[in-house]
Amino acid sequence: MTSREVVEAAATLVGRAGFPIPAAQAGVCETPATSGRTESRAADADVQVTAHGRGATLRIRPLNLPARDLDLLGFPPGMQQRLRGYMQTAGGMLLVCGPADSGRSTTLRGLLHCADPFTRRVGTADQAAGADIVLADDLRHPDAVQQALRHAAAGRLVLAALEVPGAPAALLRLERMAAGRAELAWALRGLATQRLVRKLCTSCRVMDERVQTDQALAGLASSGAAKLCGAPQAFRAQPPGCADCDYTGFRGRRLVAELVHCGRKIRDLLETDSRLSVLRAGVEDGSLRDNGLALVAAGVTSIDEVAAQIDLEE
Ligand SMILES: [Zn+2]
Repeated sequence: MTSREVVEAAATLVGRAGFPIPAAQAGVCETPATSGRTESRAADADVQVTAHGRGATLRIRPLNLPARDLDLLGFPPGMQQRLRGYMQTAGGMLLVCGPADSGRSTTLRGLLHCADPFTRRVGTADQAAGADIVLADDLRHPDAVQQALRHAAAGRLVLAALEVPGAPAALLRLERMAAGRAELAWALRGLATQRLVRKLCTSCRVMDERVQTDQALAGLASSGAAKLCGAPQAFRAQPPGCADCDYTGFRGRRLVAELVHCGRKIRDLLETDSRLSVLRAGVEDGSLRDNGLALVAAGVTSIDEVAAQIDLEE
């Protein structure tokens, strides 16, 4: 069986499963002879078939998850406005950072959702001819980084995701993988970092009167970076929970985000100053830490939940 036959057989199976892929469609790569690949974007799924010799990998990612619109994802208004602004620009790279299961792909979809479909064409990193916006949802390899930077330099807006804890780690990873600092400084427009924290069940949460919680929130109020509405009132989960939350103490999740805006000032700094800490000067609308603590102060989540996801000592 040739690689093309493997891909066609897999594509036919996928088609029978309800995801229409014309088996003879573009994307089948005959070099090297042992591999092949085809992909298709159906209305509700992104389907990718990759052949390795006699085997094949099938990757199906649903596109119709809820909350695709940027409005619904939970970014603070100022950050949302900035993100929408990036979607109007030509060239450069917007990077979404976060650990596994932090909602990076959902944010990328939300960003695409607010691009004008009549004037902005979207392509993938491999098929970017004629595209204004390129989706590079996984910069795991040096080749992918180089390719993304080439697209950014060619005047395409690159939306990329990286599994790293935050902006400094992203910069370090990209530098080590493939790119010089000057090249990155030139390409970067924004570095978004995010986490998903569990929301406290409002039926069974209890007030958190621990001294350490008060101290953490006092620091937040004095920093002024996150705007507090009224006096902070922290809550925490109380075992065993209740029937409303399936005895977990939590119901649903909420985004916590930080955005480093790479305007001209930050880009100049990045080029001339080797320290990763220069990124702090680009943080707008609060740091990840302060935005997480603001959700604690508003009783949305607990300090234990935030501390499990975000370094509060920073
Ligand atoms: Zn409950």
